[in-house]
Amino acid sequence: MTSAYCQEQYREGNKKPSSSELSKRLTELKKTEKKQWLTEVSSVPLQQSLRDLEQAYSNFFKSCKGQRKGKKVKPPKFKKRKSKQSAKFTDNGFKLYPDSSYIHLAKIGDIKVIWSRELPATPSSVTLIKDSADRYFVGFVVEFNPRQLPKNNNSVGIDLGITDFATLSNGEKVKSPQPLKKQLKRLRKLQRNLSRKQKGSKRREVARKKLAKLHTKISDIRNDFLHKFSTKIIRENQTIVLEDLNVSGMVKNRKLARAISDLGWRSFRAMLEAKSVMYGRDFRVIDRWTPTSQTCSCCGFRGGKKELNVREWICLNCGISHDRDVNAAINILVAGGHSETLNGRGEKVSLSVKKAHLGEASTRQNFSSCPLSLSKG
Ligand SMILES: [Zn+2]
Repeated sequence: MTSAYCQEQYREGNKKPSSSELSKRLTELKKTEKKQWLTEVSSVPLQQSLRDLEQAYSNFFKSCKGQRKGKKVKPPKFKKRKSKQSAKFTDNGFKLYPDSSYIHLAKIGDIKVIWSRELPATPSSVTLIKDSADRYFVGFVVEFNPRQLPKNNNSVGIDLGITDFATLSNGEKVKSPQPLKKQLKRLRKLQRNLSRKQKGSKRREVARKKLAKLHTKISDIRNDFLHKFSTKIIRENQTIVLEDLNVSGMVKNRKLARAISDLGWRSFRAMLEAKSVMYGRDFRVIDRWTPTSQTCSCCGFRGGKKELNVREWICLNCGISHDRDVNAAINILVAGGHSETLNGRGEKVSLSVKKAHLGEASTRQNFSSCPLSLSKG
C-alpha cells in the first residue's frame, strides 16, 4: 500500500516520500472497502510503520549519496505476511499494570505475558512480535542506568575460529554447538518437502511451519550458547579484547559462508559490546590487519605468514613452541593494551571517548518476554 507508493516514487526518480503525504494516503486507504481492516487495528503501530518506512528510505538515500557509514543500504522491500511480523506500540498505545502478568495493548486488549525478567524501568515502547514459527513475543525499550559488576584485574584476548569457536589467551578453547551443521540433513529434507507441496494448500502451510520451527530451534540454540558464553567472559574479565574480523568479506567465500554464519561471530561481538557497557567492562577491538598469528607472543619475532592448516609452530628466534590460536589470542590481548581501538566501521575512535560516551549516558536495552514458552533464566 503506502510502501508500493514509495517504490513508485523512487522509480520515477522522485525524492523520499514525506511523512505527511504517507499519513494522508493511509487515511484515504482506511476509507476504501478493500483496506477496511486498517480501521480495526490501533493507529499507533500503523503510524509507527510509516515512520519506519520513512526512516528506511532516508537511510537508503543517505547511503546512495555516501552520507552514511558502513555497508550500502538497499531500498526497503515488501514484508511477507508469513515471515516475522511486529507491531510497535508507543506512548498511549500500551499500558502496564503493576505486579501483573497482563499488559494492555490498544485495540487488542489485555494479553497475558510470561516475564523472562523484571523490567528495570518504565518502558517507552512495547513491540509485539510474531515469528515465522507462530510464536509470540513482547519486547520493551527501556532506558536505565547500567548496573556495574564489581571490578577485577583480569583481562582476556579472544581469537575466533572455525574449529574452535573461541580460543582465549589463557589457553582455554571453547567449541560452538554449530546447530545448523547438526540439523542440515533434516533442514534439507523439510525444504524439499515444502517445495513439493502445492502453493496455497493446507499441506504446504503445515510443511512451512515445520521448517520455520526448525529454523527457530537452530537460532535459539546458537543464541543461547552465545549469550551464556559472552556473559561468562564479561563476568570473569575487566578487559576484553577481540579481533575485528571481516565477516561480510569472509561470508562471500561460499565454502566458508555456512560455517561462519552458523557460528554467529557477529552476534557474539555485538553481545560482548552491549554487555560491556551494561556491566562497566572495557571492551576493545583491535583492527584486522594486526599480524596476530605471525608474531611470536613470547619474543615478538615476526615469523611470516602461516597457512591455515599450520596449527602449531616453533619460533625461529626464541625456540618456544606455539599453539597457533592461543598465540594469536595472547597477541590480541597485548595489542588491545595499546590504547586505541578501531570500531566496526573502520572509523578511528579513541577508547576513552567512546567509553565515556557509552558509560555516562543511560543505556537503551531491549527486553523480551515470551508469553508462549516458559521463561528463560
Ligand atoms: Zn619467539
